[in-house]
Amino acid sequence: MIGPVEKAWVRVKKKSVRLQIIEALGGKCMWPGGCTMGENCGSVTDPDMLHVEHIYNDGARERQAMGRTSGAPTYVGVISIVNQQVYYGYILEHLDSGRYQILCANHNAKKQAIERCCKRKENRGIVPCPCAA
Ligand SMILES: [Zn+2]
Ligand SMILES: [Zn+2]
Repeated sequence: MIGPVEKAWVRVKKKSVRLQIIEALGGKCMWPGGCTMGENCGSVTDPDMLHVEHIYNDGARERQAMGRTSGAPTYVGVISIVNQQVYYGYILEHLDSGRYQILCANHNAKKQAIERCCKRKENRGIVPCPCAA
């Protein structure tokens, strides 16, 4: 069965789908405090070092919608090529949902560290959370 996601994918090649997404989302790391990990302490713009990221961390729900129940599609290395194609095709079709952003590898890792921190039992209810310092 060919759905809208697959059709979107068929229109364009895999690499350009990802690059189209990155371009449409600003083409650089969108870390809220400003990214300084790129050249001359500016934002990272190298697509190889950028992640397409779920702002609301709802990647798991999205995978379910795509019939996937495991894996971590924001980390390209662990999903198969076919799933990547479907995944990026889906995102491209849903770019205007405001649910995606571009982060560099460093800030993607930092975001995950912050989320782990804020989920810790001993940090619940502490305002501001220690990671905000
Ligand atoms: Zn960054
Ligand atoms: Zn925290």
